[in-house]
Amino acid sequence: MLWLLASGFFVWCAFREIRGSFVARPGYDFPTPVSKPYLAIVIALAIGFAWPTVHRLYFERFLSAKSTELADGHRARVHCNTVFDTMMDTEMLAAGHANIETGEIALQAPWCGVLMSYLSHPERASRDEIISLDIFTHESMHVRGERNEAVTECEAVQRNYRAAKLLGVPDPIAKQNALDYYNDSYLHRQEMGIMQASYFSSECAPGKAWDEHLSDSTWAP
Ligand SMILES: [Zn+2]
Repeated sequence: MLWLLASGFFVWCAFREIRGSFVARPGYDFPTPVSKPYLAIVIALAIGFAWPTVHRLYFERFLSAKSTELADGHRARVHCNTVFDTMMDTEMLAAGHANIETGEIALQAPWCGVLMSYLSHPERASRDEIISLDIFTHESMHVRGERNEAVTECEAVQRNYRAAKLLGVPDPIAKQNALDYYNDSYLHRQEMGIMQASYFSSECAPGKAWDEHLSDSTWAP
């Protein structure tokens, strides 16, 4: 918000400069010609300050559309929390949360940024970047209608391949990233204390009770 205010200030500076070339300013008899270097600087500053917010809004719209697809048409609205939003959030310790009734998803700082950098180089994704993909898929599964955390997470594990492809990751890389999440993160949750274990089930595995046998499952050969 502060950045948009700063951008608005520089837009006003540009407007004042252009108007001064048509209408004499107070104390002047004639209009003064536009200073091109000054105008270029204030326009660049206006764009520079607006860009992070515009970029975030664009990314939120993109994620909302893809999340709605993952949630089988249940309308999702993704919000990328800023650091300030996260500090004010009653669920600030969770990486994200979703409201099943309204379809609103909040991704805490810095996870939207991590997801953005994952999408910029999925072929060399870090562990955190792959986790950011799962957070997005997991919250989408809540919007799809599941409340139980372990079931939600299992649905996400099976759809991370689909989610990565929807977000534009090339096919073989999407598959590998989704499998890496299952093998390197999900299967270790059972050993990571009660909190993490509540997201895990031994039934969440190929051929087990929670396998949905999706044609494009992360596990499908
Ligand atoms: Zn959850």
